[in-house]
Amino acid sequence: MKKIVIAGAGIGGMAVAGFLAKLGYKVDVYEKSESLDKMRYDWHDDVAPEIFSELGFEIPDGSFPKNDWTFVAPFDASRQTMHTPVENRDRSIERRAINKMLFDNANGAEFHFGATVEKPITENGAVKGIVVGGKEVFADLTIDSLGLNSFLRRQLPEEFNIQNEICPNEKFVAYRGFFNRLPGKADESEPSRVYMKHLGENGISWCLFDHNPNRMNVLIGRVGCLEKETFDKAMDDLKKKNPALGENLERGGIVCEIPIRYPVSRMVADGYVLIGDSAFMTIPMLGSGIASSLAAAKILSEVIEKKGEFDKASLYEYQYKCFKRFGAEHCGVDSLKRFLLGLDDKTLEWIFGSGLLNDNDLKNAAAGRLVTIKVSDYPEKLKHAKGHLVELLKMKVALDRSHKCFKIADRIPEKFDEKKVSKWQKRLDGMYE
Ligand SMILES: Cc1cc2nc3c(=O)[nH]c(=O)nc-3n(C[C@H](O)[C@H](O)[C@H](O)COP(=O)(O)OP(=O)(O)OC[C@H]3O[C@@H](n4cnc5c(N)ncnc54)[C@H](O)[C@@H]3O)c2cc1C
Repeated sequence: MKKIVIAGAGIGGMAVAGFLAKLGYKVDVYEKSESLDKMRYDWHDDVAPEIFSELGFEIPDGSFPKNDWTFVAPFDASRQTMHTPVENRDRSIERRAINKMLFDNANGAEFHFGATVEKPITENGAVKGIVVGGKEVFADLTIDSLGLNSFLRRQLPEEFNIQNEICPNEKFVAYRGFFNRLPGKADESEPSRVYMKHLGENGISWCLFDHNPNRMNVLIGRVGCLEKETFDKAMDDLKKKNPALGENLERGGIVCEIPIRYPVSRMVADGYVLIGDSAFMTIPMLGSGIASSLAAAKILSEVIEKKGEFDKASLYEYQYKCFKRFGAEHCGVDSLKRFLLGLDDKTLEWIFGSGLLNDNDLKNAAAGRLVTIKVSDYPEKLKHAKGHLVELLKMKVALDRSHKCFKIADRIPEKFDEKKVSKWQKRLDGMYE
């Protein structure tokens, strides 16, 4: 029986553990957390709910629809609220309920908690297993679900052609905590405020009414790093502008890192596959990665079921399908995100305040879909552009570039051919240098 090792009980790793165990593989999952209920995170996350039925799961109990968000432009210059009918909104779901559901579904796999994966075992350009707690564990396939800072991906030799490190401007360092809500001080007209380039910093902060009527949900995230001074200033500002935000931390209160970039341009090697945050599968605009990790788990198990082999040419179909399903669009959205982050505050303010990007555009970008301005939209967009033609042109160039990135990514070679795939990779990575 072929042996599969899953490094890290990330969302994609746990999901694929269940699918592969059901196919009859011997599956071992190595996770550094001491137990399932200590795994991260102690909070709820927003997920597009269709992914659960697609994978044959029920949405875990206790979920609720996410609030409409109000985007606040830098320095409070303007605001724009996204309106989504309740039935079309993402659902907020307790992360530990998702973990439990995936763990129960993976009852055919063996979980080893308190097990820290240290490095890959490589030989002649192939991964042969992992070192865990000082011991070598050999396997026919290693699935890397260790998250953004994966010890495996980062230690792969150059010949694998897999990017080891993420650039600082491609990750979001985010604090998330839930605080008490002060009664009688809430502004119900905008229950969920998201501050773009909060206080002129690269990143966002939010202060949302939680579904628990006694709590506020706070996130302070910055691109690259989050200094204490930045955090303190942001927190003070949130408190000033959101009088309902209390002092007592009731849940969360930790700092984590999230990839906010396009997926890694090489996801497979002989005996090795990347999934989830270790493959940078999050939506570049917001860092949501649960739905794409689950979608990737399904794709991977189907490819393994079909091919039954673990060489890179066989596993490559997984990368191809991930790019077709969401990766190519994430490439386009990443390009747009880089443009918006690079803008000066005044232009960003105008873009958000003028209505140039409408409700639909914001929803698309947040959901990891391309933003498109059709020729027929231009008369309407031009109305907002009086005195701002330069900015409108800049926006058009940025959108064209975002579509170009999408097209390059979408032209991923269908079958594995080292030369063709390397050439495609070079072209795609080159767009973001
Ligand atoms: C503040 C915050 C808010 C988020 N909000 C959302 C949201 O609302 N919606 C959404 O879709 N996504 C959200 N995400 C992103 C989401 O968490 C990830 O995209 C998703 O969980 C997929 O990541 P992963 O499971 O691959 O990696 P991780 O969640 O990083 O999991 C990796 C696993 O590997 C384990 N591990 C790491 N190193 C080792 C090691 N050396 N040995 C053994 N085990 C190890 C870790 O303990 C962990 O269990 C958020 C992330 C953060 C940080």
